[in-house]
Amino acid sequence: MIFNDAAEFRASGFSPRVCIVGSGPAGISVALKLAAARVPCVILEAGADEWTEESQDTYRGEVVGDHYFDLDMTRLRYFGGSSNHWAGWCRVLDGHDFEPKPYVAHTGWPIGRGDIDPFLDETRDVLGLAPFLPDRAVSDDFRWFEMQKSQPVRFREKFAAPLAQSPLIALVLNTQVDELVGDGAAISAAKLRSRGAPAGELGAPFFVVATGGLENSRLLLWSNERSNGGVVPHAAALGRYWMEHPMFEVGTGFIEDADAMAFDHEGDAFFTPTVEAMAAREVLNFHVQIESMPYRGVKKFIADTACLVPETTEWVADALGLRLQCSARLHMAWEQPPREHNRVALSATERDAAGIPRIELHWKKDDLDRRTMLEGIRMFGAAFARRDLGRVRISDWVRDGGDWPEDMEIAGNHHMGGTRMGDDLSTSVVDGNCKVHGMANLYVAGSSIFATSGQCTPTTTITALALRLGDHLGRVATAGPVKA
Ligand SMILES: Cc1cc2nc3c(=O)[nH]c(=O)nc-3n(C[C@H](O)[C@H](O)[C@H](O)COP(=O)(O)OP(=O)(O)OC[C@H]3O[C@@H](n4cnc5c(N)ncnc54)[C@H](O)[C@@H]3O)c2cc1C
Repeated sequence: MIFNDAAEFRASGFSPRVCIVGSGPAGISVALKLAAARVPCVILEAGADEWTEESQDTYRGEVVGDHYFDLDMTRLRYFGGSSNHWAGWCRVLDGHDFEPKPYVAHTGWPIGRGDIDPFLDETRDVLGLAPFLPDRAVSDDFRWFEMQKSQPVRFREKFAAPLAQSPLIALVLNTQVDELVGDGAAISAAKLRSRGAPAGELGAPFFVVATGGLENSRLLLWSNERSNGGVVPHAAALGRYWMEHPMFEVGTGFIEDADAMAFDHEGDAFFTPTVEAMAAREVLNFHVQIESMPYRGVKKFIADTACLVPETTEWVADALGLRLQCSARLHMAWEQPPREHNRVALSATERDAAGIPRIELHWKKDDLDRRTMLEGIRMFGAAFARRDLGRVRISDWVRDGGDWPEDMEIAGNHHMGGTRMGDDLSTSVVDGNCKVHGMANLYVAGSSIFATSGQCTPTTTITALALRLGDHLGRVATAGPVKA
């Protein structure tokens, strides 16, 4: 069922067991699983059926620290959320991403990859993915892996009809949750605002916050402030340990053995280090993306490079007549260390149209980001040359520790952390079941629960974790709230 506002929904008399806030990939995945378990749920969606300037304005905010995207450009606030403009690159976090890295503080999850594996078939159904190809070792230090470029699923388009027809899922558009009401043990209600005006409260036995990787922290911080700690009673980590995937073009390459690269249909190939290689250099996870350029571009590329790096050009010229197949741009994206000071905070001065403080995002890369990038591309270049796959030239700014460029990709639009999963109340917000510590009936879905980010795009793992949460709630929601 789809309702256009809170009044329409109320008139229906529908009584949900679970109230889900947000209709992006996380919220819809939880709802699908609940419906499969025959648990009635409502999804409250702040935005409309399409983009509106008024709704999107709520996402404006300030960034303090490193250069980052405008906060109203890096996400979308309407039915389907940011899936309305995501690119569709898919990959699940690796098993080792869930394990602690002894040389980096606050790494490790309370669950393992085995806990989400049972949900990967359904994740592929939801995201329209083919089975992932197995990784392939290309050297002692590196594996080729598939970053699957899917036809990006727009959750609004794919699920509008199934949601409209479902007797167990009520989607309510134009209805935002201003705040959750809690007493430090349980949530009793969500305060609603529909079509811009206050619309009373909605009670339910269970609540799931699924408003995106920045907004989950904002909604919980604001609700907690308004209820004097009644929504997140253990709030030391709330908003903190926020992470992105920094992304930069870090060099160029000349490729001799294109077959070994296993380029995908768009001419990209992805490589990631082994756990042992990361540990030996005490760096975090990363990937190198080789973006190949067609052979006809190679000669010009070499001519352009000749005056910059004569030694590389000499090697290239030797190889040209022999086996040289193409040249390439090298991009890197990496896992950031979870740092307490990288955080979503509430602005002390700026508020949105509903009077709710806007986000002030504090985000800064540090020495470990820098080392992961430089050591990573050095390792890759060495492995590449040892196997005689080609040669890598590292960009000057990377090698010389120059300023972070502002005219490149910068990051992935991946908003992770802020309500991270863990067992330690001082460094995490939710437990292994995605339940807020100390609360009987409040859960969080989305990449804000990521304890660490790994190197790959987040939405496949978000979907798998949300299906797992829906499965869990499908069982407990019929039995009643669990003990906090
Ligand atoms: C340009 C771009 C490209 C991307 N490409 C990729 C990619 O290739 N691969 C990948 O894995 N990821 C990619 N992402 C990230 C991906 O879009 C997100 O990981 C994903 O959408 C997160 O899903 P979500 O459901 O957690 O949050 P969202 O998609 O942000 O959905 C949250 C929903 O909650 C609603 N909402 C917010 N506040 C409230 C409130 N108070 N009350 C009610 N409703 C509310 C919003 O309107 C929205 O519908 C990309 C992102 C961008 C911006």
